[in-house]
Parts: sequence; C-alpha cells; structure tokens
Amino acid sequence: MRKLYPYGRQEIDSSDIDAVVDALRSDYLTQGPRISEFEANISKIVDSKYCAAFNSATSALHVACLALNLNNNSTVWTSPLSFVASANCALYCGSSIDFVDIDPRTGNMCITKLKEKLRRAEADDNLPDVLVVVHYAGTSCDMEIIHKLATQYHIKIIEDASHAIGGSYHGRKVGSCSYSDITIFSFHPVKIVTTCEGGCATTNNKALYKQMKLYGSHGITKDEAEFLDECEGPWYYEQQLLGFNLRMNDVQAALGISQLKKLKKYTSRRNEIAKLYAAKFNGAQSITPLSVMPGIYSSYHLYVIRLPFQAEEERIKLMSLLKQEGILTQVHYRPIYLNPFYRYIGFNQGYCPQSEAFAKSCLSIPMFPTLSNQDADYISDTVLKYADLVLSRA
Ligand SMILES: *Cc1c(COP(=O)(O)O)cnc(C)c1O
Repeated sequence: MRKLYPYGRQEIDSSDIDAVVDALRSDYLTQGPRISEFEANISKIVDSKYCAAFNSATSALHVACLALNLNNNSTVWTSPLSFVASANCALYCGSSIDFVDIDPRTGNMCITKLKEKLRRAEADDNLPDVLVVVHYAGTSCDMEIIHKLATQYHIKIIEDASHAIGGSYHGRKVGSCSYSDITIFSFHPVKIVTTCEGGCATTNNKALYKQMKLYGSHGITKDEAEFLDECEGPWYYEQQLLGFNLRMNDVQAALGISQLKKLKKYTSRRNEIAKLYAAKFNGAQSITPLSVMPGIYSSYHLYVIRLPFQAEEERIKLMSLLKQEGILTQVHYRPIYLNPFYRYIGFNQGYCPQSEAFAKSCLSIPMFPTLSNQDADYISDTVLKYADLVLSRA
C-alpha cells in the first residue's frame, strides 16, 4: 500500500500514552488537579494571566461570547474564511452575525474592508459589539491595527486562534491577549496540539475568566467568596446563572500537559516544512503560497496554496490526481455564509467576493510535524508537477 498523507494529523508518542494511563489510574477522572495544571501551563506558554479549559474551542467561543454579555441586541463580526464555529458562537447568544471580507494574501480579515465597514456602521448606528478575528492557517492577524480600531469604536475582541497556538505577533505570543479581551485555542487532533477534543480561553481579565468558568460549569460556584446567599455549610454550592456543562476532563488534560511539552518542537518543524515547500514553489506559475508578514511567527496549522484556475473542475481534477499519489488535500474554507443554514438566515452569494474567490482557488496540502524532509520533497514535487499539468491543460 502506498503511504497516505492527510492534510494534517496528530502525533501521539509513548509519553502521551503514559500520561493518559496515569490519569486513568489516578483518583480524579474529571475536575481534578490536571485541569488547573494544564491551564497554568498554557498561561505560562502564551503569557496570559488566566486560562480556562473547555471540552472544545466551540465551547470556549460560546462562553467567551456569554462572558462579554452578548445577547439579542448584540452584533458580532467575523471572517467568512473560517470554520463555522467562529460565527455560530454569536448565534448561540441570540446575537446577529456579519462578515468582513479577507485579504487574499494571508486569508485574514482585510483591514481596509474592516475600516470601511466600521465607518459605514458608525454612520448607520449599528456598530458591532464584538469582533471575532481568526488567525487563518496559524498566522496572526494585524492585531495592533485591529486593537486600535476596536478601542476607537468601543468593540471587544475575541481572537479565534484555533489554528495559532505557538505563534507570535511582533514579539507577543498569540494568546497573551496583548491586543484582545479573550483568545481561543482548539485541541482537536488536526490542530497543533491535541486533547482529542478540547479547547481553552485565555484572558488577562479576572472577571471575564470567572464568568467563562461559571458559564462552562452549570453556572455553579463552590467559592465561598463568591456566594450570593449565605453559606449553609461545607457541602454548600449555588447556581448563579444559566450555564452549561462544557468542562474538559482530567484524562484530556493529562494528554494536553504532555502534548504542550512538544509545542515548540512541533511549531518549529512546521516552519521547517513550510520553508522547504516555499523554496519548491518559488517562481511557480501554478502555485502561490500565502504570505506571512514581517514580525509574525506562524504556527502553520495549515499549508495553503492558491491555484490560478478559474474553474472548480480543475481543482477537483488536481485533488483526484494527488489522491492517486497518496496526497490528500482539503479546502479551507467555503465561506461560512454560503452554507445552507447561513443562506437560510439571509446571506447570499457575492457578499464577500475576496473570500469566495479564495475559497475557489485554495488548497491545503499535507502539513504536520512528523513529515520527513523526504516526505516534504515528494509532496511538493508531486503537487507542483500536477498543478503545472492541470494549468497547462486549462
Ligand atoms: C477547529 C476550529 C474551531 C473549533 O474547534 P473545536 O475544538 O473543534 O470546537 C473553531 N474555529 C476555528 C478557526 C477552527 O479551525
């Protein structure tokens, strides 16, 4: 059988397995000491004051929106070039969602479009309450400018950094919340480090941290200092708001603690592979890699290329040729608002033309830290060969 290369995959080694087995043999399977250890380790790595772990990044986005008091009267803006969770979190809170088109060089939210849209929204008195910015493929958005605009217009910022743990922006770690209120990470197996399913929210704001924890655990607190009613005894706890059970468990946290030890190794290997790919694709007619602006260290969750094809059939042809060679590719992403559900709630084709054009011409090729240099050579040579072939016939 030919070797198969998915577009991304996890690495689980014996130290990860030992950590999970230890957790399974311990006194706590959930709500034990490994959760707070995992949270403290993330805070230390990304330079945030607080970190709250949850059972997914989707859950973390949901509680982040709740903690920022989003409700039926609120509006959220995000990037259409993302996973649906970046937008769904607003709708969970009854808020309205809208989209800001992308910069096709990076796949991140376009600053010019954002500025224009803010100016119009101010004039129409419908500015957003929260901006969910997405660090596409692991490369940070231009946070300094986004933060300046958000301050000017009194908008809160959530960074959806599901792709970007281990990355940095002008010397600040993604997750440090230097330019945002809350940052979200995902630990789904295809992301940089995994807890099988899992996510977290980092912040420097204690009140936001506490609210997110509360919303993620039934709205229940056992902290006497927080009680609204009189404490009736050592057994006492109280529910203060309508929360959910969105907790991570200790077995997942054990895996996360072990995986985090390899975060640096993973991101530097991803960067090495990206360099090998970029060297191969340099000057190619048929392939344009994404840009990473100066001062940004990408964690390269994805390696995305742009193809010059005008028709979808050519990309489908390329994907099937590559599949025959063992190279599995994927499209990240169809613009969120073109999904049937979002069309049903009122969005139409043509709304964000750059995102739509990007979605038609992008392809994520295999990128994960256990690829050898030989694998990377094989993948880039094969992708280039077939992209040239398809282009020459187009
Ligand atoms: C993966 C992903 C999510 C959701 O992460 P889960 O942990 O699977 O809930 C959210 N946003 C983006 C941009 C993602 O890539």
